[in-house]
Amino acid sequence: MDLKTPQLAIILPCYNEETILDYSKSHLLKKLTYLMDEKKISADSKLCFVDDGSKDDTWKILDSYKEKSIIAIKLANNFGHQFALLAGLDTLKNNFDIYITIDVDLQDDIDCIDKMIDAYDNGDDIVYGVRNDRQNDTYFKRKTATLFYDLMLRMGVKSIKHHADFRLISNKVLLEFLKFKESHLFLRGIFPEIGFKQGVVYYKRKERSLGESKYPLKKMLAFAWDGITSFSNKPLKIVLYIGVFSIILSFFLTLYALIQLLIGNVVSGWTSILIAVVFFGGIQTLAIGVIGEYIGKIYYQVKGRPRYIIEKLKNA
Ligand code: UDP
Ligand code: MG
Repeated sequence: MDLKTPQLAIILPCYNEETILDYSKSHLLKKLTYLMDEKKISADSKLCFVDDGSKDDTWKILDSYKEKSIIAIKLANNFGHQFALLAGLDTLKNNFDIYITIDVDLQDDIDCIDKMIDAYDNGDDIVYGVRNDRQNDTYFKRKTATLFYDLMLRMGVKSIKHHADFRLISNKVLLEFLKFKESHLFLRGIFPEIGFKQGVVYYKRKERSLGESKYPLKKMLAFAWDGITSFSNKPLKIVLYIGVFSIILSFFLTLYALIQLLIGNVVSGWTSILIAVVFFGGIQTLAIGVIGEYIGKIYYQVKGRPRYIIEKLKNA
């Protein structure tokens, strides 16, 4: 815990967010000024927008901002939300005392930042923003999100229920986080692993005021699957259990087939053969698929490609 007023950086990933940038900037600058006036953060605190390879005018708008307190990073391609956050954090490391990551649509309540800083002042090195009310999300988004967190927990991923990527971390935590070199990044699974003193603040998730969600169902499912396979070997174990179960089942089927043979009922065996072939064929394909997923991850990890590439930096 630092006794001096902490210097804060707020990191905002942006992908095709031209419609919302000005709104977001003005609200956040107001918030920063307020926090500085209240002596909660130091006067050289900053906002850092990371343009994640947007196809629209996001960079043009970011580039036009003249405020000294705004840093802008342009990634050379669309690396994804998690890597945009990584790029921002990695670039700013050691330059600030605390870092807050938040989506640029400000669906997460920026008034919570005060509470996060209080928690840091009281000794927390990681403070998670947790949504305790998602009434503003659609019924579908609410249900799928709850399912997602439950599945994570069941699969042994330590992620915090209803916490997305709205969190505060200290520079100490950031340096530890940067030692996690995974090619498939799932931030909300990593931070609970890091340890240190961790706290939680609750807030109500708002509606997106402008622009639309960049997480359609397909992307959400891929993200969930990535989270599970990056942090848990449970799918491999489940496949193993299914394998054991099918061996037991096939033992009984064999017994049945032999009895049929003894009775002299051999011709009528085609149904059981068909069922057995289809059933075990299915299980084997599934097992190969799951194993393949893990091998695929190893393949990417071994290549050790850069996880993000910066094209331009402004004010950093
Ligand atoms: N985002 C990004 N890269 C992507 C997709 C999204 O940087 O490839 C950013 C997006 O601009 C936003 C945040 O990630 O700031 C969360 O996205 P969104 O609000 O669309 O997700 P939702 O809140 O609907 O889950
Ligand atoms: Mg959003």
